[in-house]
Amino acid sequence: MKKIISIFSLLLIIISGANAGSIKVVTTTMDMKSITEMIGGNKVSVQTIATGYQNPHFVDPKPSYIISLSNADLFVTVGLDLETGWSPQLLSSSRNSKIQKGSPGYVDASEGVGLLQVPSSVNRGEGDIHIYGNPHYWLDPLNGKVIARNIASGLERIDPANKDFYEANLHAFFAKIDLKLKEWDAKMAPFKGSKIIAYHNEWVYFERRFGLQIVDFMEPKPGIPPSPSQLVKVIKEVTANKIKVIISSPYFTTSSSDVVAKQTGVKELTLATSVGAFSSIKNYFDLFDYDVDQLTAVLK
Ligand SMILES: [Zn+2]
Repeated sequence: MKKIISIFSLLLIIISGANAGSIKVVTTTMDMKSITEMIGGNKVSVQTIATGYQNPHFVDPKPSYIISLSNADLFVTVGLDLETGWSPQLLSSSRNSKIQKGSPGYVDASEGVGLLQVPSSVNRGEGDIHIYGNPHYWLDPLNGKVIARNIASGLERIDPANKDFYEANLHAFFAKIDLKLKEWDAKMAPFKGSKIIAYHNEWVYFERRFGLQIVDFMEPKPGIPPSPSQLVKVIKEVTANKIKVIISSPYFTTSSSDVVAKQTGVKELTLATSVGAFSSIKNYFDLFDYDVDQLTAVLK
């Protein structure tokens, strides 16, 4: 009897091991992880490098990331220059030929995204960290479909036997985006044209999707901390435009927004830019649920 039980538990371990997913995926961010899990289902086990409450432009490379990458079958990056400061270095240190740029196991999720704010010339002047166009494109749920398509294609390249499975999950994801977008649109509709200030230039795709109007940023240039002259400019803009809210992200300090709030009475709101920014945001759909609910409550 004892023997039967131990064989049975061994079987359980094997089965649950298989359920965890044999395809090892490493993503740079939580949003890419969430979408990969929805497309890959029980075929994948996914690790992310950046957390959802960390500035994705600035991540300290740790040796453990290199170990994960060296064992990965698939690598998913947001791309452009979002992770320029840390991801290429980690990737080359992994020495894993399966996931290097150009290999079947490399997914650039930005492929095919209609980019905004693409400069006419590439110039990292004044510390600008958006030199290939704005890289925060996952904050438009319709771009989530492009990301999901790229991830599905990557999974199908390295695991063609399960193509039908990935395609089915992809189409379920598309359907859910369409359904949820109707709900988010309806909630945001009364606030079309609302003028707001943002801390970092990471809301342009969200702004366009939901008809907001971002008047200015606390940062004078992406990646450059707020300066006294920028604060003076923002204070004037808030007053002149009767702006109700400054939106920020968990990884920025509020000290400069506090100054503007004190001077003008504008509200400060920390929104989520990624899955995991707050404990209630468990997946890509939760992200927009959270931001839409928070924003509409403040704009009322
Ligand atoms: Zn940025």
